[in-house]
Amino acid sequence: AASLRPFPGAISSGAGGSSLQGVQCETAAKAGMIIQRVVLNSRPGKNGEPVAENFRLEQSTIPDTIQAGQVRVRTLYLSVDPYMRCRMNEDTGSDYLLPWQLAEVADGGGVGVVEESKYDSLAKGDVVTSFNWPWQTVAILDGSLLQKLVPQLVNGRLSYFLGAAGITGLTALLGIKEKGHVAVGANQTMVVSGAAGACGSLAGQIGRLEGCSRVVGIAGTDEKCSILVQEMGFDAAINYKKGNVAKQLRELCPGGVDVYFDNVGGDISDAVISQMNQNSHIILCGQISQYNKDVPYPPPLPPDIEKIRKERNITRERFLVLNYMDKQEASVLQLCQWIQEGKLKVRETVVEGLANIGAAFQSMMSGGNIGKQIVSVSK
Ligand code: NAP
Repeated sequence: AASLRPFPGAISSGAGGSSLQGVQCETAAKAGMIIQRVVLNSRPGKNGEPVAENFRLEQSTIPDTIQAGQVRVRTLYLSVDPYMRCRMNEDTGSDYLLPWQLAEVADGGGVGVVEESKYDSLAKGDVVTSFNWPWQTVAILDGSLLQKLVPQLVNGRLSYFLGAAGITGLTALLGIKEKGHVAVGANQTMVVSGAAGACGSLAGQIGRLEGCSRVVGIAGTDEKCSILVQEMGFDAAINYKKGNVAKQLRELCPGGVDVYFDNVGGDISDAVISQMNQNSHIILCGQISQYNKDVPYPPPLPPDIEKIRKERNITRERFLVLNYMDKQEASVLQLCQWIQEGKLKVRETVVEGLANIGAAFQSMMSGGNIGKQIVSVSK
């Protein structure tokens, strides 16, 4: 039913579901309602690590009145995501990502509540989302670019629409379904890197739900590793900052690796790929270890690892969740059902206040989060 559609239509408007343009936000500094917003203050430089000071909180105004077709929304939650690192560069390196402009309001995944509507399909009190939500406390947006959400699907946990019941969950589920070749009864071992993050923590659990017999995670702290095993049902987890990853993998995956959900790339992935079986599959989700470097995406594997990949016929196809938005509706319903049934455990790291969004982004990029990093803007 239409009312059950958490994200009616495609999230993006471009061919192949890949354009990230969209929501207009009115920030004209005339008389009007005073709001807070966050703009890009400086660029980290192509090879620099992002810092909170790359963003700046400032006061602005929006008009008191809205036009036909518009809605005024109050921001509840914002998402910070690794791809935003590319948007901080003058050239994002991706045809589907637009750079943020200096001194202009940043944007990304957001959830909010309609406070006033002159758009027929939305009413005051509706909860809505967009992939291009401006980083401001209150905004005037074009109603046609918003998707209405069904809060009951997540038992009112609205931030889940930015994580487990949103793009993050879709990435984990569709990455596995489209590129993982996971089959019930096939006795497959899955390894997940970035395993305690938003996508990774879900990917390991979904790998198990879809039929993998053994799931091993790789993450950056002992606390993350213990949560993966004790809370998320991973069979084992490796702290890549301690000890030898290759050696631990050999012990923990004695039958080799059949499916690798790769969030990080670099040395960790080289160690995993070296232990993958003939005709196995890499789900090339992301390469966060390379995002502060000026390298193409996806970064090529080192020659010795590429040789192994070819010899063993290991697939490593590019995966972009936005290319599968025709499967969004059914997939979100599946994710919500698993959450409701307690089969999918969800973790979030929530930072309070728009003023702290830059710090939240910096923290997520350097491993400060467990599960999805969320910024709570208002209640
Ligand atoms: P996340 O995993 O919640 O957060 C990033 C995590 O990456 C950090 O917590 C950190 O955890 C880890 N990390 C940072 N630098 C690292 C390094 N040098 N080496 C190893 N690990 C590092 O973020 P997410 O939103 O779920 O995204 C995960 C990946 O999925 C990213 O690569 C992202 O680009 C990708 N993604 C892809 C799609 C798609 O359509 N293909 C969609 C969404 C996301 P540790 O403590 O473990 O280091």
